[in-house]
Amino acid sequence: MSQNRSSANIGVVGLAVMGSNLARNLASREGNTVAVYNRSPQRTRTLVEEHPEAGFVASESIEAFVDSLAKPRTAIVMVQAGSGTDAVIEQLAGLFEDGDIIVDGGNANFHDTIRREKDLRERGLNFVGAGISGGEEGALRGPSIMPGGSAEAYETLGPILASIAAVAEGEPCVTHVGTDGAGHFVKMIHNGIEYADMQLIAESYDLLRRVGGHDVDAIADVFAAWNKGDLESYLIEITAEVLRQKDAATGGPLVDVIRDEAGSKGTGVWTVQNSVGLGVPVGGIAEAVFARAVSSKPQQRAAVQATVESRPEIQQPGDNFEDDVAAALYASKMVAYAQGFDAIIAGAREYGWDIRLGNIAKIWRGGCIIRARFLNRIVEAYDNDPNLATLLEDPYFAAAVRDGEAAWRRIVATAALSGIPVPGFSSALAYYDSLASERLPAALIQGQRDFFGAHTYRRIDRDGVFHTLWSGDRSEIETEPSTH
Ligand code: NAP
Repeated sequence: MSQNRSSANIGVVGLAVMGSNLARNLASREGNTVAVYNRSPQRTRTLVEEHPEAGFVASESIEAFVDSLAKPRTAIVMVQAGSGTDAVIEQLAGLFEDGDIIVDGGNANFHDTIRREKDLRERGLNFVGAGISGGEEGALRGPSIMPGGSAEAYETLGPILASIAAVAEGEPCVTHVGTDGAGHFVKMIHNGIEYADMQLIAESYDLLRRVGGHDVDAIADVFAAWNKGDLESYLIEITAEVLRQKDAATGGPLVDVIRDEAGSKGTGVWTVQNSVGLGVPVGGIAEAVFARAVSSKPQQRAAVQATVESRPEIQQPGDNFEDDVAAALYASKMVAYAQGFDAIIAGAREYGWDIRLGNIAKIWRGGCIIRARFLNRIVEAYDNDPNLATLLEDPYFAAAVRDGEAAWRRIVATAALSGIPVPGFSSALAYYDSLASERLPAALIQGQRDFFGAHTYRRIDRDGVFHTLWSGDRSEIETEPSTH
């Protein structure tokens, strides 16, 4: 099947849904000749037969595929993450030469990407872990692309990726995120934020239904209206569509026949695990991961339901209830994004990446699942001050939180009194209140730690490190003298 030796400027290995769509997207852009290869040749044959317009250079062996690539050879691997990716990388690495580029476009764990990049660099090859968001549709029509790897590799790869990426505000949604695993790290955080965003939207729906008393069609209308304002985003848009969908069997809303047990594939868990390791509180993302986990424990839910004698009375919705929910959603969303960007800052510091935060917000404006008008605000915030201590200190964000604050509190209180779980809204509000409080009860925790473990504490009025002799005469000693 091999033809046109060394004629393709880019190749794709792995032609399941993501790889074949990405290959078609590449082939549709001027200047690209695309080589394709899949372990099972039938997939390759089907793709070539169904898409003659693409002019694919197809191979049925990895050797012929490598032969069909012009130098520096550049191949995007779109296979199952984990051992499948390792197997394909190893095959390519055995045939590639100095300066050639292997791109992993799958959902790899960034720790694997760091390991693979180091190994291949030592063998003279370029390895780029590229996060690709947007699902099958994005792969075909224009995803948001988050490549890591070396600057050298990006010189060749950048224009090719720019040719297939989504375009937002006239700019392609791709940027060189940073070296080695930076791209997959940022893709992981993207997915974590996606979890938080979805949870907040789900809480809004629940409140509109149970407190607001709206039927599902009316709630779809509320989301459609929100999608015309500050909340405009892909996730709000598809929420309205999902809510409008009727079930053929019952004639009622589809959402009412879907089991309320949310699944996940693991990137949210990775985000939380890594953020905790980096000391970054990502409560919005963690609560979203936990909420899915709680929903998927039917036995525990049934066991507690069996103990319940009566549920709290649903509160009357206040005036402008929908506006209050929208305000709570927007404020909580700002917190979730602020936390996600904090995790990126901490990851960049830990792993030595020079990540431009404004550029990350830019490439998330199109193609990806969290694309939203709101990201322009983040772009502006980091344009104004790239060294913000938190997004919440930016004047726009600070004012937006102030504007929505009263409604946010009303909504969390109403939910608590009505017995409706809003872990996303309430944890975001608690996080905001923690940052906004002049004094926290952490002082007491330091006292407790010093009591049982002599962990010491610092004082507000003097430098130095102190310990109280709790089991002695309870006088205070200075354990480390002041540095001043
Ligand atoms: P997939 O189901 O994850 O993987 C199937 C592909 O991997 C097939 O081409 C299969 O080849 C190949 N493969 C598996 N093990 C292999 C091995 N040991 N050697 C060679 N090839 C092997 O495919 P997908 O759904 O298209 O996803 C591809 C990648 O994109 C994955 O990493 C996935 O996590 C990621 N993804 C991303 C998004 C997104 O929105 N960004 C969405 C979906 C998936 P055979 O045909 O020979 O079995």
